[in-house]
Amino acid sequence: METLKNRILEDGVVLGNDILKVDSFLNHQIDVELFNEIGKAFKEHFKDKKIDKILTIEASGIGLACLVAQHFNCVPVVFAKKTESLNLDKDIYYSEVYSFTKKKSYKVMVSKKYLKAGENVLVIDDFLANGKAMLGLEDILNQAGAKLAGVGIVIEKGFQGGGDDIRGRGIDLKSLAIVDSMEDGRIKFRE
Ligand code: 5GP
Repeated sequence: METLKNRILEDGVVLGNDILKVDSFLNHQIDVELFNEIGKAFKEHFKDKKIDKILTIEASGIGLACLVAQHFNCVPVVFAKKTESLNLDKDIYYSEVYSFTKKKSYKVMVSKKYLKAGENVLVIDDFLANGKAMLGLEDILNQAGAKLAGVGIVIEKGFQGGGDDIRGRGIDLKSLAIVDSMEDGRIKFRE
């Protein structure tokens, strides 16, 4: 998606060799018009799939998934929670995810009320790096007996291998921008 790639080149800040900061449009301030274009692009890719629900992970995934859902007949959006609270149902699916940005593991949780066996679920997220968050969401879908219809990612960091693993397992993964290297702060996209 050219507009997205140009925006990454204009506004993206590379931290070290492997973290891309895109707070000005994706992770802190949100560019709603761009999110809407992202939603259209995912719809174009997944148009032949039956999608009953969208699953994402808090926090950055929520706004994104809601705009994407508008292009999929406003199907419900469910987000996996990362923090336990008294409000969360006791009856939950959960999985353990290792975060390389935070260098620690955390739990992702979804109430059993909001994922049902046989549902076709599109997973949407902002970034794909090593693929650990995605494995956690896949684990939750498996526990629920729901079907993973596809995965839509805004920015895949191709050099971290999560995307290759997902494609290698035959999952329909659409990444709108794939960054193949960020050496010396220079972002290079996969063609
Ligand atoms: P993974 O589990 O695929 O290694 O990492 C994916 C998660 O880590 C995403 O949900 C995202 O929140 C976070 N993440 C990974 N790499 C980056 C990055 O370069 N920039 C930002 N902003 N988040 C990242």
